Amino acid sequence: MGNIWQQRAEERLLPLSREQDNFWLAIKEWFWTKEVFDLKDVHPDDWDYDNEPLEIIQGVEYQSGKAFCGLCGKEDLRYVFRIQNRLTDNFLFVGSKCIEKFDIISKNGSGGTERNSEMHREKSRVIKEQKHQHVIKCLLQIMDETNEIKVQGFIDYFNQNKAFTPKQLFFLIRRLRIKNINYQASAFKIKLRRDREKDQILNSSDDNVKEYLWESMSAGQREWYVQRMQIRRNRKKDQILESSDDNVKEYLWESMSADQRERYVQRVQIQRVARVLREQLYS
Ligand SMILES: [Zn+2]
Repeated sequence: MGNIWQQRAEERLLPLSREQDNFWLAIKEWFWTKEVFDLKDVHPDDWDYDNEPLEIIQGVEYQSGKAFCGLCGKEDLRYVFRIQNRLTDNFLFVGSKCIEKFDIISKNGSGGTERNSEMHREKSRVIKEQKHQHVIKCLLQIMDETNEIKVQGFIDYFNQNKAFTPKQLFFLIRRLRIKNINYQASAFKIKLRRDREKDQILNSSDDNVKEYLWESMSAGQREWYVQRMQIRRNRKKDQILESSDDNVKEYLWESMSADQRERYVQRVQIQRVARVLREQLYS
């Protein structure tokens, strides 16, 4: 099995293992420590990108501003998994694809599919945690003497609920934009379970919702909002059609646009035809 991946992996793994010759025996000395790291914070962005020599920073291989898998040297990584040798205590940071290929066990002994799903779970947890920290960092940046208590209250609320109410989010997004702070809208989750929270969003103007909250809303929340707005529009149409024609003409006509008048006339005609048909049918 002399493929290129194995060759590269052998070059890196054997010098760090007790077993010096047989790659497949050496693998058995290694396990995943159940640690996953996000390299975003360590990542040196401001590098000169051409032909930098390979450097190792905190155990991770870097070249020309990119981080690479410590095993195959190929995968360009954002999240790295730490593996350790139980006999020599040496460690390596590798990509998830390599661990899967490599098929080592995790700390408690599970391998294969079980270990893979554990790895993916752990990675999601790290991503979630990183998003949470991003939100806290943003909030600390908009905190000043005038709003200190308010923003601290929002931080406590977010730590507990992992999301904001629509009202809180309106305030926060506006402040973040005024202060020109880079924020990741999807990290600012919105809470829409209670009626009070739903009302906050439904009582805001559609323009404001689209401008300040839309990016933070999940697909399900957007769908719910669109449906509710549709229901509201239909209700308004019904209200006008349920009023007597005289009343509409007397009180609303002047305020209606040409387009609305035209649609109204059409709807009234349809209603009349329907009424006549119904009467014929049942007479
Ligand atoms: Zn790799």
